[in-house]
Amino acid sequence: MLVVQKYGGTSVGNLERIENVANRVIKSKKTYKDIVVVVSAMSGRTNQLIENANFYSEFPNKKELDMLLSCGERETAALLAISLISKGYNAISLSGKEAGLLTTDDYTNAKIIDIDSTRIKKELSEGKIVVVAGFQGYAANGNTTTLGRGGSDLSAVAFAGALNADLCEIYTDVDGVYTTDPRIEPKAKKLDKVSYEEMLELASLGAKVLQNRSVELAKKLNVKLVTRSSFNDNSGTIITSEEKMEQALVSGIALDKNQARIVLRRIEDKPGIAASIFTTLAKKDINVDMIIQNVGHDGTTNLGFTVPQNELKNASEAMRELLGSDVVIESDSDIVKVSVVGVGMKTHSGVASAAFEALANEGINIQMISTSEIKISMIVSSKYAELAVRTLHKVYKLDN
Ligand code: ADP
Ligand code: ASP
Ligand code: MG
Repeated sequence: MLVVQKYGGTSVGNLERIENVANRVIKSKKTYKDIVVVVSAMSGRTNQLIENANFYSEFPNKKELDMLLSCGERETAALLAISLISKGYNAISLSGKEAGLLTTDDYTNAKIIDIDSTRIKKELSEGKIVVVAGFQGYAANGNTTTLGRGGSDLSAVAFAGALNADLCEIYTDVDGVYTTDPRIEPKAKKLDKVSYEEMLELASLGAKVLQNRSVELAKKLNVKLVTRSSFNDNSGTIITSEEKMEQALVSGIALDKNQARIVLRRIEDKPGIAASIFTTLAKKDINVDMIIQNVGHDGTTNLGFTVPQNELKNASEAMRELLGSDVVIESDSDIVKVSVVGVGMKTHSGVASAAFEALANEGINIQMISTSEIKISMIVSSKYAELAVRTLHKVYKLDN
């Protein structure tokens, strides 16, 4: 039996916690013959490293930033291996490159191309516990790359897939996936099971308990995925395929604080204008999420859209360059996106109107709306973030 276990930032947040992880790994070694442990950087470390780079530049060279950020995970991996060895266990730590994780050269957001698991298999066959630094790989040119924020989850799933692991366990600081962030709504309920589809929506819409790309990959590779706490022995949440699930109407509420909005006023209302705006943004790799275009008037119209907060400046500048000085460009980073997710919505009506009514009753103005088969997303002012989450959690009776 082979298990891949991933321990997140808080779980390895200090030296004692890393030792706690070592003890848990040793215990698991009694159940599973082979263990591969993927670790994150100690909590706060990645942000600290980014701040250091920002001392020199607001937009540090991305190749060098990856070299820097990869150190966080390597530090934890080495410390965990040292701890395991000091306890008399045979262990080795590997960087992403040593573990064979090949990626594209999209620095700070590299995509996984392939894993050559020869080295890991060799170490396992020698009876070693293999500790791999998460969040990183290397490009064909040999340079170190990183996989985007929260990317250690993705590393874990990728190694589980490549090694054909029996199980991939994601250890974190909460007991599993809840109906909403338990730090915002203490009444949130832990879900025993959640479908890949719903988990993917929740993760993409801001529930950082699992990184969205990791869920996507787990689904694709059919990796058996469980999230649980590294601080207790409670059973966690199993991420499974939809068919096996009883379909709840709404399974969770997600909050994304990393949103900003741009509104373009009085742009020309003519064919091709939206195309030129969004092609410009796409060329700059800026991810556009919600889009609203008003009905035109006087040959002009207003267009609003959201982008990740760290792209706001970049996007505004690109719009100014494209549209010239006649168009009014407003930007606002004081917004959040709250979303209601549930596969049961596919077959029920009235789910959206319940959300709108509940927010209205609390005096929360909805600034933008977008819906799909299994989600409703709403942009509201950031001062209402927590209230909106708790209000929606209550209206769909997720607390009982
Ligand atoms: P790690 O460092 O272990 O990767 P993260 O901080 O990335 O952990 O993710 C865990 C956090 O995700 C929790 O502490 C919790 O605040 C947050 N979270 C947001 N939405 C949810 C949810 N629906 N269920 C559980 N946790 C959630
Ligand atoms: N350390 C990285 C981050 O903070 C990756 C991870 O923890 O998953 O984003
Ligand atoms: Mg995480």
